[in-house]
Amino acid sequence: MTDNDLIASNALALLKRFYGYTGFRPGQLEIIKAVASRRDAVVLMPTGGGKSLCYQMPALLADGCAIVVSPLIALMDDQVSALIANGIPAAALHSNLSDAQSRTILDKLARGYIKLLYVSPERLMLDIERWRGSIDICLFAIDEAHCISQWGHDFRPVYTELARIKELFPATPVIALTATADRLTRDDIAAQLKLNKPFCHIGSFDRPNISLTVRPNPGKAGRIAAIERFIDRYPDDSGIVYCLSRAGAETMTAELVRRGHKAVCYHAGMSAAARIKAQNDFLNGDASVVCATVAFGMGIDKSNIRWVVHNNLSPNIEAYYQEVGRAGRDGLPAEALMFYSLGDLHTLKAFADESGRQLVNREKLDRMLRYVQSPVCRRRTLLSYFSEIYDHDCGNCDICTNPPHRFDGTVAVQKAVSASIRCCERVGAYSLADILVGIARADIRAAGFDKIKTFGAGSDIPLKRWNDYISQMIQYGIFEIAYNEANHLKVTAYGRDALHGKVAVQLSDVEPQAPKAAGNKQKSTAPHSAGLLSRLKQLRKAIATKEGFPPYLIFSDATLDDMSRRRPRTLAQFAEVYGVGEKKCARFGLAFIEEIEKFINEDNR
Ligand code: ADP
Ligand code: ZN
Repeated sequence: MTDNDLIASNALALLKRFYGYTGFRPGQLEIIKAVASRRDAVVLMPTGGGKSLCYQMPALLADGCAIVVSPLIALMDDQVSALIANGIPAAALHSNLSDAQSRTILDKLARGYIKLLYVSPERLMLDIERWRGSIDICLFAIDEAHCISQWGHDFRPVYTELARIKELFPATPVIALTATADRLTRDDIAAQLKLNKPFCHIGSFDRPNISLTVRPNPGKAGRIAAIERFIDRYPDDSGIVYCLSRAGAETMTAELVRRGHKAVCYHAGMSAAARIKAQNDFLNGDASVVCATVAFGMGIDKSNIRWVVHNNLSPNIEAYYQEVGRAGRDGLPAEALMFYSLGDLHTLKAFADESGRQLVNREKLDRMLRYVQSPVCRRRTLLSYFSEIYDHDCGNCDICTNPPHRFDGTVAVQKAVSASIRCCERVGAYSLADILVGIARADIRAAGFDKIKTFGAGSDIPLKRWNDYISQMIQYGIFEIAYNEANHLKVTAYGRDALHGKVAVQLSDVEPQAPKAAGNKQKSTAPHSAGLLSRLKQLRKAIATKEGFPPYLIFSDATLDDMSRRRPRTLAQFAEVYGVGEKKCARFGLAFIEEIEKFINEDNR
């Protein structure tokens, strides 16, 4: 057996034993092999893709402790509880602990009793020098790694200090993980962390089960009507309404509650206790809707969120797509609907200007605006933003279900690509349009761009049209905007294919019409096991209440779903259920088996 085979077979055995899963998700094993062979890695996987396992498994395979850097305390505590529930010794070190609690953890760490230690970046920087030489560290994992890049949407200055890890521990593998980063940010992560020829995994960001719809804001009554349609359509499942302001979240909650819906509010202005209660009510299913600001959702692993409504425009595509991605994590059809208005745009512009990172945030907002106004398939637009080539329309967005009139725009695309290349890809979108129309502005003349062969090659089309077309070309992924090079357009591989006539590109002249909702009609729960499933959920809730932790830490919905289909009658059968590891089998197996027997004996077939 080669080393790689050995890693794979050990990993598979540990996967079954500790997690109760029978196989790896796409990409996981390759990443685990790389890190277990002590290579650095950069991992881009959408939320829910299974990033945690990519560092937890190499930690289980190695001697010593893995240090996991994570910016959010709530997230750490959640992960630690989940690990402990699976029988893996883990702890979190952060500023919410008392001195005594911290000392206990540090003591355990020094004795080698901890397999995974979650720390905040601030805390790591305090201790890291002391740990060199005294603690056996097998790897460092940097979660939410996009926070290190000033090109990212969530730059956190303290993250830049993480560069010290490689200086102090040059031989220890570092794995950087994020669910959201455009290409520029990705490259920046590896550079900032000083990674050594990292193994890069870029998972697909496509979530084909989520339908995407964008609409101009119809006013409050219209928004509430749309939300109520979702509530009616998915009575057993849940949804999130994202609001730009705390006041917005509160008003929307009050409106829904007044109409008899089980809604809760969540934002950073609430007390910690109130937030925890709201989150638990939502996770437990006591509330079916949460109206929230961006503060909500990090680390939420609830599989039956069927819909996400954005009451307002988002500040950037990364945040928007991540929030959309909280729906449909079970892979069943889900819906995302965004409302936008000019008012939102003004508010968000003001936020960007006050953010201290005005230029980056303004560009990100501009990209978001292009998205909502674009006549191009939403999914194509989103995926090309993350540099994923997606060369067809998705059929599951409002543009696809209600397409604008299109024509073969290949010639226009070829002119634009060719002009961009002749300008050495050193012009931005607006200048490119000027050049195509033949406007010899002073700066264009100064650069000599009025001398290129394609100068004025598009003078038959008005400037405004060219601006629209170029915007569409960006959405299609013909061009990429180099934000680190004065927003110049760079021709992508797909753009070159278009230039050489290998692909045809459709453009559109019309403004997108008021789009119809792209609705899913399928129901989510399989009817045959619904009765048993709801009994299992009740049992899970009863155990959770008794033991004092959230239901999803006992078993996920997917596990209960599989259990209700398999109907295990013995512990051996129970261990076969998706998501049941050794520890949980021993701890909860009998209770669930008893419930299943009761159900069957009550003559439910
Ligand atoms: P991310 O951090 O990428 O958002 P997580 O690591 O939290 O995702 O994983 C999402 C969910 O998928 C978790 O419930 C996790 O237990 C589950 N999961 C991860 N890997 C596997 C696998 N190989 N088989 C089955 N379930 C998995
Ligand atoms: Zn589409």
